[in-house]
Amino acid sequence: QWDVQSNAHEEKILVSVRLRPLNEREIEKNDVSDWECINNTTIIYKNSVSERSMFPTAYTFDRVFGCDSSTKQVYAEGAKEVALSAVNGINSTIFAYGQTSSGKTYTMSGITEHAVADLFDYIHMHNDREFVLKFSAIEIYNEAVKDLLSPDSGPLRLLDDPERGTIVEKLTEEILTDWNHLKELLSFCEAQRQIGETSLNETSSRSHQILRLTVESCGHEFLGSESSSTLSASVNFVDLAGSERATQTLSAGTRLKEGCHINRSLLTLGTVIRKLSKGRNGHIPYRDSKLTRILQNSLGGNARTAIICTMSPARSFVEQSRNTLLFASCAK
Ligand code: ADP
Ligand code: MG
Repeated sequence: QWDVQSNAHEEKILVSVRLRPLNEREIEKNDVSDWECINNTTIIYKNSVSERSMFPTAYTFDRVFGCDSSTKQVYAEGAKEVALSAVNGINSTIFAYGQTSSGKTYTMSGITEHAVADLFDYIHMHNDREFVLKFSAIEIYNEAVKDLLSPDSGPLRLLDDPERGTIVEKLTEEILTDWNHLKELLSFCEAQRQIGETSLNETSSRSHQILRLTVESCGHEFLGSESSSTLSASVNFVDLAGSERATQTLSAGTRLKEGCHINRSLLTLGTVIRKLSKGRNGHIPYRDSKLTRILQNSLGGNARTAIICTMSPARSFVEQSRNTLLFASCAK
């Protein structure tokens, strides 16, 4: 279906940056916006009086989205093609990466909803095949894997299956009936993330959330029989822990432990992404963290990957924003 050239294009990681508007808290503190998207692909640092001239002031990616962009636009140009590859039997992962409060959850939840709407549309338009959409949701907190659809079941183990690779043992999978069903499941999952925590932001800054949609289909003529016409692939929507967790050293006790573990998953992901973006040769350390083990089948190989890096335009966050752009540059 693809010629060699478009295949080569398909293989690389799609990297986008989304700038959010200044929020009320930032405006109250008289913070100012120092970043601007000057076209579809380049974001610049505008603060000319900055002493930090050793840093580049212009950064180019596959796509950049300014503070007036809509999530629909971010989805359409930064994620849609990758998300919909599941209907062709190709696994994929879409990440939101960025510091806490930069807009990861805002962006990723919108992307997930748009993608599921498009998947249902696709299914309704393709009556030649029988489709089943399955939904599962996990949270990785402190390197423990929690089933967000069955929160009382305790930490889940990862198993190595010779055919399917790493699988999450006893993970709940719900067959999605329609759009409203998805909305119900999403609000249930969101509620689970807050339980036992001081605030949602506290949890979400330290935990990774993976929503997985599995698209299974088979041709009508083969219904009821084991046949090669059956296709199955997953698309993963990943709301990562705050990227400040990859650099910040936390003080003592539990916090230090949590910090270390989050560092491990985020740092390992960074290493895996960097190695994949440089070509697929050599050892890729998927096994060094829960996050990368769980996503192994949906990263590298035939799989498609999109990364949406979110950032605040505020001057006070310039260090974090630069770290985010550095990560994005390494993924290209
Ligand atoms: P994160 O998940 O990275 O911690 P959130 O997605 O929770 O950040 O965003 C922090 C706040 O900013 C939320 O109140 C969210 O609604 C708002 N926000 C984030 N991105 C945008 C945007 N592009 N436009 C408008 N508001 C946004
Ligand atoms: Mg969040």
